[in-house]
Amino acid sequence: ARSDFRNPLRKYNEDILKKELFDQKLLGDLRNALADGQFRVYYQPKYDIRSEPPRLMSAEALVRWEHPELGMIPPGTFIPLFEGNGLITLVDNYVWEETAKQVAMWRNKFRFTLPVSVNISRADIFDPDLTERLCRLITNNGLEYCDIKLEVTESAYSQDADRLLGLIHTLRKIGFEIEMDDFGAGYSSLNMLSSMPIDVLKMDMSFVRNIENSETDLRLMKLILDIAGNLKLSVVAEGVETEGQLKLLRDADCDLVQGYYFSRPVPANEFEEFIRKEREQ
Ligand code: C2E
Ligand code: CA
Ligand code: CA
Ligand code: CA
Repeated sequence: ARSDFRNPLRKYNEDILKKELFDQKLLGDLRNALADGQFRVYYQPKYDIRSEPPRLMSAEALVRWEHPELGMIPPGTFIPLFEGNGLITLVDNYVWEETAKQVAMWRNKFRFTLPVSVNISRADIFDPDLTERLCRLITNNGLEYCDIKLEVTESAYSQDADRLLGLIHTLRKIGFEIEMDDFGAGYSSLNMLSSMPIDVLKMDMSFVRNIENSETDLRLMKLILDIAGNLKLSVVAEGVETEGQLKLLRDADCDLVQGYYFSRPVPANEFEEFIRKEREQ
């Protein structure tokens, strides 16, 4: 066959090549980016919707890469890449340290302790120093263990369940709270609920998206809240964007909500506005 720009296979190969080159660039740039301080930690508030008006309870730390040539790169672009080779632990460590410093700074500035959760990736679980690193965050910054919460995604559970189970036991005994992230998005959610000791269940945003127009989705959302309630777990609903979704979640007795309805993830200085507002109430 003659080569043809519209040949779908050729187009496909070119896309793979481009993606490969892009990934290689990001991998090559990582160490310099860490040394150069190109990673930014953004914060997204979590509100308790059982009270009126809703109360600011905590936040989630979410990383972005401010690349000098490529601009702001969202985590979905580089995290899977760095997870594959363990390099994510370097990024995560940076994010955790920034977060712990920020929590301590806000406590001193506002006399208000706002716990912040950080994401633990699958690769972190294989770091033999993980527990020690997390404990150092607390002691080095004069925090309490409950000030930094740990979000572990469901996919991490299926990989090496025994190892993770042991780790979670240890971390909880020390005093960290564990949130199961993206609950319901994977295949083994219900199995894991019976074996993993967790404190909070984060309902994946796919269960929230269509509750206003799908009776089935509404029932599923309520079912997850029922299961969590039976197990005495509190629930954070992720991806709440509209007032209608908020109302349905509140009617169903959901505890906490995170999503664009309240705020997108924002830099620390912008986040301070939320703390100020909360303190005025
Ligand atoms: P995640 O942990 O499930 O974080 C929630 C994601 O949903 C964030 O995307 C957040 O910006 C987005 N989001 C929040 N509210 C809404 C909403 O109302 N609507 C929609 N459509 N999206 C909303 P982001 O910041 O792009 O992060 C994507 C994922 O990257 C995270 O998913 C998490 O798995 C990972 N990630 C982010 N930061 C870190 C980090 O520091 N370390 C590790 N290991 N993973 C991270
Ligand atoms: Ca998360
Ligand atoms: Ca999530
Ligand atoms: Ca996720």
